[in-house]
Amino acid sequence: MMLELDGLTHCYDDEPAVENVSFGVREGELVAVLGPSGCGKTTLVRAIAGHLDPTAGRVSLRGTDVTGDPPESRAVGLVFQEPTLFPHMSVRENVAHGLKAGNLDAKKVDAKVSSYLDLVALSEYADAGTDKLSGGQRRRVELARALAPEPDLLVLDEPLSALDRQLRAQLQEEIATIQDETGVSTLFVTHDQEEAMALADRLVVMEAGSVSAVGPPRELYERPPNRFVASFLGRSNTLVLPVSGRHTPVVELGGQLLRVRTDQPGTTPDRAVAHLRPRDLSVGPATEREIVLAGTVTSVTDRGRRYEVSVALDSDEEVDIEQTDSPPSVGENVQLHCELGALSLFAERGERLECSPVERSLQSKPELRLD
Ligand code: ADP
Ligand code: MG
Repeated sequence: MMLELDGLTHCYDDEPAVENVSFGVREGELVAVLGPSGCGKTTLVRAIAGHLDPTAGRVSLRGTDVTGDPPESRAVGLVFQEPTLFPHMSVRENVAHGLKAGNLDAKKVDAKVSSYLDLVALSEYADAGTDKLSGGQRRRVELARALAPEPDLLVLDEPLSALDRQLRAQLQEEIATIQDETGVSTLFVTHDQEEAMALADRLVVMEAGSVSAVGPPRELYERPPNRFVASFLGRSNTLVLPVSGRHTPVVELGGQLLRVRTDQPGTTPDRAVAHLRPRDLSVGPATEREIVLAGTVTSVTDRGRRYEVSVALDSDEEVDIEQTDSPPSVGENVQLHCELGALSLFAERGERLECSPVERSLQSKPELRLD
């Protein structure tokens, strides 16, 4: 492990901003910390960099406990959301600044600066003032400055948030390439779930100071372990369903009777929440094994590459679907269908519930009756 956080907690004036956070970054890995604004991401970054002394817990780099060590003794390269270049220095001088702490001779510093400016494709601006650079170029200088000392860990705290959409996408790709080429272990902090999904080998999803889930982005997206992750990673429609049957808890959704399993006996919730992604719902005839929802189209929005269609269900709830071709018209009665595998079911309080279809032949059994 290049970075390991163990039970990290930090309070500002007795208010916990980060609570019992534990996760690691393996060598060469890019881990994204994803969470809404105010959930404690920058507090984590400051604890990792040594800019604050955590209230409790440990920070280790390359297997060594560095909690309490000063920032300059930690091999951590940092890039923040706010620009931090020195305006009175050239691009080259800015990058060389990151190497000052090392005991390199001038020639070696020069060679290193040149190679990192080359890496971020800014060699031709080496002697320019930073005021001659665009927003994206400045970010790249900061990246070169953070990388030149060859840190154990590169930490980027919302580095792209201040940039416009197109530049963000471009720099995102550049960061991925540079991370790949250098193999530097990286912690990328963001509130943007698409950015996190695109970049990360593993995601750490944070909610209100705590870790909500850790895992590969695809896995968390397709099988969210709790309601927070399901709502935060991508969009989903939610439908609240009563759970019935004391001995064999079941829910009914779109013509499917589903048996619900909880880990501990006696903890069956009264209500479950179904999450269905808009892209998993389609208009048209369904197979016997699918969830079927009937309703009326209330709006159709052309988003360029796809249509967003809102449907008021006969059960009075509203769901959104995504369609890439010929959408239905407003006012049309439609039948929506969705594969059972695309359904995520949660207890109302948050945890994921496993569910499986009840065999048709069993559905008439009295203990499974819904009423
Ligand atoms: P994020 O980076 O995810 O937006 P922060 O780590 O900046 O979150 O903040 C987490 C919480 O701690 C917020 O409630 C914020 O108001 C609070 N906080 C952050 N810095 C300080 C500080 N220096 N003093 C007091 N409270 C702070
Ligand atoms: Mg922050």
